[in-house]
Amino acid sequence: MDGDPTATARIVTTFDPDGLTSAQRYGDACVVCHKKWPRPRVRVGRLPDDTAVLACDDCAEALTPPTGLCPFPGRRRAAYS
Ligand SMILES: [Zn+2]
Repeated sequence: MDGDPTATARIVTTFDPDGLTSAQRYGDACVVCHKKWPRPRVRVGRLPDDTAVLACDDCAEALTPPTGLCPFPGRRRAAYS
C-alpha cells in the first residue's frame, strides 16, 4: 500500500480516545482546550483507528514547540524518524 497522499506526517502522537470527549474524537473540538469555535484545524495526532486529532492554533503551537526541524507550524516531524 504505497502512494498514500495523506501519509506525509508519518510520526504523530497517538491519543487515548478514552480521555477525549466525543466532540474531540470527531475533530469538532480542540483536543486540549475543548474549544469548538473557531474550529480546530491543526492535526496534532491521531487515534488508534487513525482518526485525526485536532487542536486549535494556540494549543497546537503549545503542543509543537519550535525545534527548527520543520518550517511548517502545526506539522510536526519527530527527530527519530
Ligand atoms: Zn485549544
